[in-house]
Amino acid sequence: MRIVAIHEATVPLSVAARSANISFDAMTASAVALVTDVVREGRPLVGYGFDTIGRYGHGGLLRERFIPRLLSADPELYWDGAQIDPDAVWRILMANEKFGGHGERSGAVGVIDAAVWDLAAKIAGVPLWRYLADLDGQADAPGRVAVYASGGHYADENDREVLRADLQKGIDAGHTRMKIKIGAAPLADDMARIEAALAVVGDGALALDANGIFDLTTARAYLAALAGYPIAWLEEPGTALDYALNAEIAAEAALPLAVGENLFSFDDARNLLRYGGLRADRDLLQFDISASYGIVEYRRILDLFAGAGWQRGAFAPHAGHLLAMHTAAGLGLGLAEVAISTASLFGQITAQVPIADGIATLPSEPGVGFEQLPVFEQLFGKVLAH
Ligand SMILES: [Mg+2]
Repeated sequence: MRIVAIHEATVPLSVAARSANISFDAMTASAVALVTDVVREGRPLVGYGFDTIGRYGHGGLLRERFIPRLLSADPELYWDGAQIDPDAVWRILMANEKFGGHGERSGAVGVIDAAVWDLAAKIAGVPLWRYLADLDGQADAPGRVAVYASGGHYADENDREVLRADLQKGIDAGHTRMKIKIGAAPLADDMARIEAALAVVGDGALALDANGIFDLTTARAYLAALAGYPIAWLEEPGTALDYALNAEIAAEAALPLAVGENLFSFDDARNLLRYGGLRADRDLLQFDISASYGIVEYRRILDLFAGAGWQRGAFAPHAGHLLAMHTAAGLGLGLAEVAISTASLFGQITAQVPIADGIATLPSEPGVGFEQLPVFEQLFGKVLAH
C-alpha cells in the first residue's frame, strides 16, 4: 500500500457566535483526503481528516511542508504489509522539525493524523472507536460515551431568552450536561445568565466557560459569587499559558476547573501538569486532539497524566467533533463535547449521532463515518474536486 495523493482545502466554518474574547465568523478549517492505492468495492480507499473548530486552516503548512514530506516517504516506513502505522506516519511528518515552538504546525500534523486514523480503521473494517479500543484496551463500553453540550454563546439581542432556548434545544436533543459562555459581560449580568441557565439545566450539570479572559482579581470575584452554586466546572478562567495564574486560581477554587483546550502539545501539557496546580480528584483536561498533533500525541499525553495518577475520566477533549467523540469513546475518556447548535457546518458533523440521557452511541461504519454525513459534500467536496 502506498499513499498516492493527499488533497487539502480550506473550508469556511461561518459560525455566527462569540465568546468572552473572540468571534467565530471568519474562521476556517482544513479538510484533508489521503488517497491510497488500496481498492475496496472498486474504489481507492481514502482517509479523511477535518480540522477542529475555533481556529483557521493550515493550507500553507500542509502544501509546502507536511504533504510533500509524507508523499515522498518510502511506504515501507509506514506500511507493514497489512496496516498503516500512525506512529510511523507521525515520525515522517515531524522529521527535521525542531523541538518546541509548535506554532500552527500542531494543527497541520493533527489533520493529517486524523486522516491516517480514519484510514487505519477502514483498513481494519471497523469504526475508529472500535479500532482505538482494541489497540488501547482500557474502555469498558467503547461504543458509547458520556457527552456534554456546549452553546450558550452571547447573543446581541434578547441574550437570556436566546440562552434559555439554546439550552432547551440541548435537553430536547437528549443532553443532560451543558456548558455556557461567561466573562464577556459584567459579573452581575453573568450571574443573571447563570441563574437563567440553571433554571433550565439541572444542578451540577451546568459548566461555565470564561475562555481565558480572567485575571486573578476577576477570577476571585467570580469564584466568590459562584460559591454555593451547583456548577459542574469553571472552564479556562485564566489564559492558557499562564501556569502560575492557573495554579493560583486552582488553589482557591472549590469547584472543578477545566483547562487545556489551548495547549497544543505534549510539552505544554507537561507544563500544565507540573506548574498548573491542577487537582486529579476533580479537574478536567480538555486538550484538543486535532489541534495538538493528533491522536498519536494525545495518547502520549494520556500516558503522561496516567503516570501522575490521573484517571481517564478526567479527560474531556475540546471540540464537538466526530473524531474527538470516537477517540473519547474508544479510549474510555470521561466526556465528549457536542455543539448544541446544528445551524453551523461544524454542528452538523455530530448532529446525526444518537444521544439519550447524556450518552452518545457512536456510528458503526468503518472509520470516522464522514461519508455517511449529510454534510459530507460541504466538508470534503472542495478536496474531492482536485
Ligand atoms: Mg472552552
